[in-house]
Amino acid sequence: MDKCMNHPLKVAKGRCKSCHRPLCDDCKYVTSIGIYCSEECHLKAKEFMDRVSPDLPPPRRRSFIKGKTVKGVIALAILLAIFYAIMYFIYQATTVEDIISVFRGYISALF
Ligand SMILES: [Zn+2]
Ligand SMILES: [Zn+2]
Repeated sequence: MDKCMNHPLKVAKGRCKSCHRPLCDDCKYVTSIGIYCSEECHLKAKEFMDRVSPDLPPPRRRSFIKGKTVKGVIALAILLAIFYAIMYFIYQATTVEDIISVFRGYISALF
């Protein structure tokens, strides 16, 4: 088994993600992006990651949400148009007031 790079008597539990040197529990520098031997290696790896993954995914995700919202608005408009058409053909309701009075009639019939 590998021994820690700083403690020759201790068994290494992991390796630095940047320089791949063996590390014991005391020497592990745990970060959100992995285990490193030092802050230096962590920063090096972070810089590398920033360069490798450009900021492409966020705009793509944003346009996807926008497309979904537009579809939702269109669907709502179609539903409203169908609702309005039904109201017009059954009750000859042409204005919002007419539709409200139809609902008022229903409500007063219920109670
Ligand atoms: Zn390292
Ligand atoms: Zn150590």
